[in-house]
Amino acid sequence: MRIYISADLEGVNGVVSYEQVDPGGALYPLAREWMISEVCAAIRGCRAGGATEIVVNDAHNRGLNLLPDRLPAPAHLLTGYDKPLSMMEGIDRGFDAALFLGYHAKAGTPRAVHDHTFSASTFHDVRINGLSVGEFGLNAALAGWLDVPVLLVTGDQALCEEAKALHPPVETLAVKEASSRYAALCLPFEVSLQRIEQAVQAAISRRQQIPPLRIAPPFRLECVFQKTEQAERASRTRLGRRSDPYTLIYETDDYLDLYRAFLSLYRASSS
Ligand SMILES: [Zn+2]
Repeated sequence: MRIYISADLEGVNGVVSYEQVDPGGALYPLAREWMISEVCAAIRGCRAGGATEIVVNDAHNRGLNLLPDRLPAPAHLLTGYDKPLSMMEGIDRGFDAALFLGYHAKAGTPRAVHDHTFSASTFHDVRINGLSVGEFGLNAALAGWLDVPVLLVTGDQALCEEAKALHPPVETLAVKEASSRYAALCLPFEVSLQRIEQAVQAAISRRQQIPPLRIAPPFRLECVFQKTEQAERASRTRLGRRSDPYTLIYETDDYLDLYRAFLSLYRASSS
């Protein structure tokens, strides 16, 4: 059984501030350790659930957070930056299931640690077929397009509510409860790590009951940028059309094409 893991940092237990998620931040070295601990707990759960191959995509910032020598077999680590599919690099139809660890709520969510969608300084909102989505939705729909179900997502309570609202069959595990964008009530670490391991194993055993997230084509992607200059730079890719000074619309029947276009618009807007 092959399991794909996309691992982010903002949703890891204990993480609340910029100094923790910025690789240059004074508190980052500790936050990275907590991320490694959560990923290792998930790997133990995968092994207990019968996984024979695991691919872990380091999906935060430049993808240099997890340390290759710290992840136990059979986990392969996808490390580094400029990955063509970014947070979902390495996903393919051959995986039996996916897990999203350390995820966070979408841009515009109140009482959510580090609510944002790919970049807080870039996107005000992202919509697919009129539905506002965050990283969970964008990424789970890509997995779903490839017939891979996302079994479990971990993060704060806001992320869990967002995932359940978009895709009720998905299992969620809240490791912390946000009280502001930069504060949360955290589980004792030994409890959160134990729960992650158990939740992963339980989700894998229930995988036949958790269908992939499928959004039906045709797709209409709307990127609402924070600033007009970002929309302007993105529009120079010639991907999509500008519907208002802040918004670019891209239409396609192929979700993989949509995801790639989204990443191209994002990169162009900030270059
Ligand atoms: Zn991140």
